[in-house]
Amino acid sequence: MTGGCSCGAIRYEIASFPLLLYTCNCTNCQRISGSAFALNMPVATKGFRIVKGEPKGWHHKSPSGADVTSWFCGECGARIYGERKSRPESINLRAGTLDDTTWLVPVAHMFLRSAQPWVLPAANAECHEIGPDDYRPLAEKWRAMWPEFFRQD
Ligand SMILES: [Zn+2]
Ligand SMILES: [Zn+2]
Repeated sequence: MTGGCSCGAIRYEIASFPLLLYTCNCTNCQRISGSAFALNMPVATKGFRIVKGEPKGWHHKSPSGADVTSWFCGECGARIYGERKSRPESINLRAGTLDDTTWLVPVAHMFLRSAQPWVLPAANAECHEIGPDDYRPLAEKWRAMWPEFFRQD
């Protein structure tokens, strides 16, 4: 998979299938995206590569207190992915930056307590007022949705 920012200065490639896809309706994600929710797609760090340009980093704390770096294009300002100090094995890609967004169906919705009242969940998606403490059962569900990309063993 490939993707990039709005102006084309930053381009990336993903070599391994994403680990999860979910929306986050927290007020932080609403502000950052300038929209109703963020479409977050964790990807294994070792499968993610910037192939053009150099994103700029913004270091801050997430609402839960985690040290986060948000990477964005210094030219057009598009946010591309986030990285957590405590979770170096994966990055959190903004799924809308992919070149092909036609297949993006979230497996869960987070922070529905602050969701816009008209937001409806995707079919069969898990709904969370905040989010799960453990993302593993959700990752399991996601893998079951994509048997062609994950060996079932
Ligand atoms: Zn750009
Ligand atoms: Zn959020």
